[in-house]
Amino acid sequence: MALTEGLESIFQDVIKRNPGEAEFHQAVREVLESLGPVLVKYPEFAESKIIERICEPERQTIFRVPWQDDRGEVQINRGFRVQFNSALGPYKGGLRFHPSVYLGIIKFLGFEQIFKNSLTGLPIGGAKGGSDFDPKGKSDNEIMRFCQSFMTELWRIIGEHTDVPAGDIGVGGREIGYMFGQYKRLTNKFEAGVLTGKGLVYGGSQVRTEATGYGCVYFVEEMMKAHKNGLKGKKIIVSGSGNVAIYTHEKATELGGKVIAMSDSNGVIIDEKGINLDTIKTLKEVERRRIKDYCEYHKGAKFVANGNIWDLQCDVAFPSATQNELTGKDAKKLIKGGCIAVGEGANMPSTPEAVHTFIEAGTLYGPGKAANAGGVATSGLEMQQNAARDAWSFEATDTRLHSIMKNVYQICSEAAEEFGAPGNMVVGANIAGFIKVARAMTAHGIV
Ligand code: GLU
Repeated sequence: MALTEGLESIFQDVIKRNPGEAEFHQAVREVLESLGPVLVKYPEFAESKIIERICEPERQTIFRVPWQDDRGEVQINRGFRVQFNSALGPYKGGLRFHPSVYLGIIKFLGFEQIFKNSLTGLPIGGAKGGSDFDPKGKSDNEIMRFCQSFMTELWRIIGEHTDVPAGDIGVGGREIGYMFGQYKRLTNKFEAGVLTGKGLVYGGSQVRTEATGYGCVYFVEEMMKAHKNGLKGKKIIVSGSGNVAIYTHEKATELGGKVIAMSDSNGVIIDEKGINLDTIKTLKEVERRRIKDYCEYHKGAKFVANGNIWDLQCDVAFPSATQNELTGKDAKKLIKGGCIAVGEGANMPSTPEAVHTFIEAGTLYGPGKAANAGGVATSGLEMQQNAARDAWSFEATDTRLHSIMKNVYQICSEAAEEFGAPGNMVVGANIAGFIKVARAMTAHGIV
């Protein structure tokens, strides 16, 4: 989609100032494509260069993370924290440990996080961090030593009122625990609100583990409900098999859908009877094994090595693995196969061509920054509980999450309607997320 002249020049500048960061360029372009009508309505945002400022992180930190593996060999990784925007609250966003991590990935995630966090309605700014460390195949002790070394640098720039990291790909409860332990030791403070995604016994929140997946299903259910439809009786595919995929499966199944396929980086499993979630949880959460082992326990299931999950036919798709996992070609196949709704559990899983294909076809499409906002929203609820030294019940927390996701859907669809793109959740999410941040930045002056 073409940009207006002013926005195109901002975009070219972003490319020039951030060379080689393809994912960051992609994330920025997608937001800019929605903002034309906003600048017409609010010319003051252009005058005070809000967009140029929003595209420039407030602070970026890159650091060395040395650690020793189990053989005693020294390993060196690179750590990142990009503190993108603090107009609405302390920087907030996860940490990703994956070999593909470089500055461009962290910047795309941090940029998306600004708008996503704004949509939750909670007072949280946007940030992201991580490392090119590969947790795959590492022993528990190696993970602990890495997390301790990572936190030995990170602690200087975070804090409950400053910046509150959490998990993302490769960072779950175990890693947050090791990092929290090291932060506590370094600072001599039990500052519960400095990290979210903590274990329940030391300040974590109920529902945080389930939140991204549950929230994504709540969003899709809401979107379908507006079109007199729902997940009941629908054939569903969920890519990935990590935290987001697992709890998307759980909630979608609870609402009457049937998940017939999941995946990991080695391939796809298909079980037409419905994927057994207990087996997936044991394989992935406890034993940390590969998804193909599912077939050892379920003889009717099939594993397709290096298969493409989007070759399968479904009614509803939940891309919940990673960025750019679903191409324009995949989107066309899905639509042809009868897919009517897509909820992005992952961040930016659809390529720009795929997004345009879904929008043009009128597919009910929930972009990541809206559909997967339940994770960070529940992190916000964890911060509230920590600040009040309180702990809410599962039911109370889930009720809050559910109403937040309904509200995210509501404000996205209202913004889409108001700015001339009814039903377009990409436009709705970008505009609703942006306006709130832009207003706060305007109030704060040129900072
Ligand atoms: N990494 C998650 C996301 O993409 C959660 C971030 C958080 O809880 O701070 O939104």
